Amino acid sequence: MADPIELKETIRMAGYACGFDQIGFAAAVPAPHTTEYQEWLNLGYHGDMAYMARKDAVRRRLDPTEALPECRTIIVTSIAFGPTPISELNTANPKSSGGRRLPIIARYAMGRDYHDVFEERLDCFAVEIETRVPGVRTKRYVDYGPVLERDYAQQAGLGWIGKNTMLINPQLGSHVMLGELLIDLELPPDDPFIPDHCGTCDRCVVACPTDAILPNRVLDARLCISYLTIELKGPIPEKLRPAVGQRVFGCDICQEVCPWNNKAATPSAWPFSLEPGQVFPVSEISTWSEELLALDDESFRKRYKGTALARPGRDGLLRNLAVGLGNSEDKAVLPLLNRMLEDPSELIREHARWAIRQLRETEESPENTLHE
Ligand code: SF4
Ligand code: SF4
Repeated sequence: MADPIELKETIRMAGYACGFDQIGFAAAVPAPHTTEYQEWLNLGYHGDMAYMARKDAVRRRLDPTEALPECRTIIVTSIAFGPTPISELNTANPKSSGGRRLPIIARYAMGRDYHDVFEERLDCFAVEIETRVPGVRTKRYVDYGPVLERDYAQQAGLGWIGKNTMLINPQLGSHVMLGELLIDLELPPDDPFIPDHCGTCDRCVVACPTDAILPNRVLDARLCISYLTIELKGPIPEKLRPAVGQRVFGCDICQEVCPWNNKAATPSAWPFSLEPGQVFPVSEISTWSEELLALDDESFRKRYKGTALARPGRDGLLRNLAVGLGNSEDKAVLPLLNRMLEDPSELIREHARWAIRQLRETEESPENTLHE
C-alpha cells in the first residue's frame, strides 16, 4: 500500500480537480460537539425539523460509523460561493433599487441547488479515489445527511465555527457550503483549525433581527429567518413577520456583517451556475407573486426544479412573499393581496390577511377598499 501521507495528498489533488475549494481529512470519531447537539435538540431549538431529532439520524450524527460501519476517515469538502459583490446579486433592498421592492434571497440560492452540485462533484471525487484505491468504500453527504459537518470541517482544518454558528475560513469567509465523503481508508487526519478569530466581535449577534443567535454559539433555529422562510411548513409566527422584512428566502445578515466576509478576497473558481434556459426570478415581489399565483403545485415544481427555491414549495414561497408585501409599506400591492385572499391555500390567505392589516395600520386609504 502507498505511503498514507502520499496517498492522502494524491486524493486531495484529485478532489480539487473535481471542483472543490477546500479538502480536509478528519478521523471518523464522534464529533466534538455531540453533547451540545443533543442538548440543542432537547431544548427544541430545531423547531419543526423533526428529521433532525429522529433517533436513527441522531445516532448517525453522533457517530459516523453508524452511517458507514467501516468508516475510518471523513473527507470534508467545501465550495465557496463568495465573494461576489452583493450588488451583483439579486439581494437589493428597496432603498438601493430605485424604490422597487425586490425580494431578498440568500446568496447560496442564487444558482443551481447546491445539493445537486455537491452530489455531482462528490460522485466525481469518489470515482477518482476508486481508480487509485480499487475496492474502496465511500458514502457521500451534503447537509441533509446526518453528519455534524461544521465540527468535522473544523477538525479537518477548514476553519473555525463563528459566533454566527457558520464555518469561517480566513481566506474564503463563511460563504462556503460543505459536503463530506465518508471513506473506509485510514488516512492521517489534518491538523484541526484551532484559532478563534471572532475574539470580542459580536456584530452578528447584534445584527440578527430576531435575536436568534444565543450565547455560546447556539442558534435557536425557530427564530432564524432562514428556518422561517425555508424549513417551516406552517405559518410564520406573527410577532416575527415584521423582522423578516423583504427576506423571502433565507437570510444572510449575520454573514454580511461579519468582517471575515469583507476581508475574504479569494473568489471561488467554481461558481454555481444555472442550467441554460433557467431564468432566475429578478422581478419585484409583487410581479413574482403574480407569477406564482398563476402556477399550481406541479407547474411550480417544474419551474423551480434544480434550484433551492423549490424547497418551501409554491405555498411556502407565496407565504413569504405575502409577508414581504405586508412589510413593503406600499399600498399599491393591496389589489394583489386581495387576489391572494382567493387562493386555495389557507396558508397564503392567512398571510395575505396579515399583510393587509399591516398595510392598513401604515395608513388607511379610501381607494384601496378591501373585499375581505
Ligand atoms: S440568518 Fe438572519 S435570522 Fe438567522 S441567525 Fe443569521 S441574522 Fe439571524
Ligand atoms: S461577525 Fe464577528 S462574532 Fe460574528 S462570526 Fe463574524 S467575526 Fe465572529
